Amino acid sequence: MTRKQRATPSAADIQSAAHRAAFRRAIIQWFRRAARPVSWRGTKDPYAVWIAEIALQQTRVEQGTPYIERFLHRFPDVRALASADLDEVLKLWEGLGYYARARNLHAAARRIVDDRSGRMPASATEWLDMPGVGRYTAGAIASIAFGEAAPVLDGNVKRVLARLIDLDQSIDDPKVTERLWELMDSLVKGASPGDFNQGMMELGAQICTPSAPGCLVCPVQKFCHAHTAGTVPSRPLRRAKAATPHYDVVIAAIRKNGRYLVGKRPPGGLLGGLWEFPGGKVKTGETHAAALRREISEELGIRITIGEHVATVDHAYSHFSVSLHVYRCEHRSGKAAPRAHTELRWVAKKDFSALAFPKANHKFLDLL
Ligand code: SF4
Repeated sequence: MTRKQRATPSAADIQSAAHRAAFRRAIIQWFRRAARPVSWRGTKDPYAVWIAEIALQQTRVEQGTPYIERFLHRFPDVRALASADLDEVLKLWEGLGYYARARNLHAAARRIVDDRSGRMPASATEWLDMPGVGRYTAGAIASIAFGEAAPVLDGNVKRVLARLIDLDQSIDDPKVTERLWELMDSLVKGASPGDFNQGMMELGAQICTPSAPGCLVCPVQKFCHAHTAGTVPSRPLRRAKAATPHYDVVIAAIRKNGRYLVGKRPPGGLLGGLWEFPGGKVKTGETHAAALRREISEELGIRITIGEHVATVDHAYSHFSVSLHVYRCEHRSGKAAPRAHTELRWVAKKDFSALAFPKANHKFLDLL
């Protein structure tokens, strides 16, 4: 039988109870057989599931797993996390990015201990009340830890669903996203919702990948409309991305008596609570030296002598990219005041490892 001749469900059929049940079974059976064996999977402890789900937002399983293991080892329960210093939590998160996740974990742990006597939220609705927990994370924790039929929808699941129903609209459209939530809501209802949700995510990560999906070994190929129609390469449709801005940033590694001046970023916003070397964006037409003098004067109120260029490193964030131009500088005069930071410290190089720095700073620390 050719691909065109095979009897496959119509787009409406996935809405029929019989097809939903068959599809769910195929996903769950495949997940139990083929899920990647990672240490944190299999637990129903809501605390551990929560930590893993937060760490894996925007992060690949291979990258996030060592962080999850270290985090659970150091903070084995919500009371341990709540009583920790935020600096230590950020240090453990160092390198994983999206530091608001770590700050929110810490804030939520304190709320659970202070307001709920340490009792973990036990439903998607209760989880949605916690800082840093959105619809996806609430559904993942509630379904995995408590067996609640709550849906999840992340990038992987969106891609699988768009191919499954051969969706000819952009998955970036909020109305389409809402429709996909409804579809997941109808699919997740039944036995083992946690395994079903994880199976959908795992299928997107392992088989129904963005490019070159493994349709030949896909456990739900017979349900897939894009496969039948031959439209897999063009699914899902995406809205054209706006070009991400790029900034040139000058960084001053200011030395005095063998120590470097570093500042702690304010708690909210990008990289909040992390330590960094002072500096800032180069304005149009400005030389690096002029930008350094201006930024250091504005941020710290001191004067410096600019020395050799140490390195230029590139780093990409989700919505912009930077080139960091790092200069060795000597302190000349003035007492540094924390105008752009919550705290300043003069730190010996051997003590850098005690502070949490953004990943971009790590790219030049060893060169100082
Ligand atoms: Fe994805 Fe191919 Fe499976 Fe369809 S058949 S769900 S496109 S891997």
